[in-house]
Amino acid sequence: MRVLLALSLPLLLAGCLFGGGDDRAPARTPVRPDPRGPVTLDLPTSRETQQCHADLSRAQVRFSPLPDRDYGGGCRVVGAVQLIDVGIPVSGLKAMRCPLARNFVAWMRHAAVPAAREILGGELVRVESYGTYACRGIVGGSAASSLKVSEHGFGNAVDVAAFVLRDGRRISVLGAWRGGSAEEREFLRAVHRSACRRFTTVLGPDYNSAHANHFHFDLGGKPFCR
Ligand SMILES: [Zn+2]
Repeated sequence: MRVLLALSLPLLLAGCLFGGGDDRAPARTPVRPDPRGPVTLDLPTSRETQQCHADLSRAQVRFSPLPDRDYGGGCRVVGAVQLIDVGIPVSGLKAMRCPLARNFVAWMRHAAVPAAREILGGELVRVESYGTYACRGIVGGSAASSLKVSEHGFGNAVDVAAFVLRDGRRISVLGAWRGGSAEEREFLRAVHRSACRRFTTVLGPDYNSAHANHFHFDLGGKPFCR
């Protein structure tokens, strides 16, 4: 038993600290946060996070840094921010690791806004998300993958469901990926393609039915775009 513990503990720690995407933090029971609530961690702010805060400020993004927290169940959010104002309202955003927030803002400004203008001839005024941090396993995969902490459990993923234009048009992933007009389908494919250059893992309706109604973007393990 002692040998087993000695072997497995460094592996668990390595999984938490050094990434590995969907393979992080192996768990044997369903992923859920500790009901006693999160533990605030007393960690120094990393250079990467400091740089990222500076990048957000330079990009005139209003945000507040969030305390580092361990939620239990393998869910742990370090170096996260709450985006307050990025120029266009986005619903549903909670804790996001700063680099994810930075890439998300860049994707909105340099991909979603121009694509709406050029392909749909409209002004993007709202993005609807299904959220960021959530302590849960990976959905839509095997039973084994459901026991692994999703990148959402690290505040390292965001789910995007729909785009709203000033003229009232609402382009949802669920309705328009297959069922929209030619322009709407082209728009969704353009922002999906651009996301693949800005995030590590990008999943959409072509990946599996769990993603029929949203795009999943994360900065986890291995590059994957579908
Ligand atoms: Zn997701």
